[in-house]
Amino acid sequence: MLCGDILRHASRLPYCEPCLATPEPMAADYFCAQCRTPFLSEGPLDHHGVCRRCRSGLAGYDFAYSFGYYEGPLRKMIHHFKYAGIDVLAGPLGELMVRALPLDLQVDMIVPVPLHWRRRVQRGFNQCELLARPLESRLCVPVVRAIRKSRHTETQASSSPAERRSNLTGAFVLAGEKIVEGKRVLLVDDVLTTGATVTTCSALLRRGGAKSVTVLTLARVDRRPAEGRMAIPATRAMGGAK
Ligand SMILES: [Zn+2]
Ligand SMILES: [Zn+2]
Repeated sequence: MLCGDILRHASRLPYCEPCLATPEPMAADYFCAQCRTPFLSEGPLDHHGVCRRCRSGLAGYDFAYSFGYYEGPLRKMIHHFKYAGIDVLAGPLGELMVRALPLDLQVDMIVPVPLHWRRRVQRGFNQCELLARPLESRLCVPVVRAIRKSRHTETQASSSPAERRSNLTGAFVLAGEKIVEGKRVLLVDDVLTTGATVTTCSALLRRGGAKSVTVLTLARVDRRPAEGRMAIPATRAMGGAK
């Protein structure tokens, strides 16, 4: 389903071995030390390497990690996983998420971003819960469905961050009053787009007494302007001129 080649080994995965190995980890010359947002220059970062949004505390979480950019083969794999219902992809995709985490990360529980029940019935599974399973065995902490989605929200990829946030307000609730109290939470989502969902969920976990919130997503949308991103590898490819 990626290169179009014939599969030569019996497997439920719709990809050949070389294609499975194609998704690449995020690369950029400058990252925020807290949220790992990529930048074209060090301009937006302070002397601790932290971006303005993290300094302001508006993000709501302590750290955020992603495996790769939401483009190319990784984007296709996520589409096959979510929209073509190929749930066996949760294994290899979840393994990529494990690679994005620092080795010394300390958490007490893994909390998947929930789907509204209607969406879960449509899709047959919550992709975030499936992605969290390889993490459960690696980190030796339980997956806890600590957040419920009480209201169905439309996916509005084109709306502004403020619109998305107000659309999400009140859409999530904690599954129990003390469920995250004093806990270090790893919040798992599939794709980080504007960050509105994880910011809303982080705020909810904080209100519930969570000690820390670390966000982990499989992929994130690269919001750097495309021209700037392209310029660097192009000059390198042409002989490494500075
Ligand atoms: Zn292939
Ligand atoms: Zn940041």
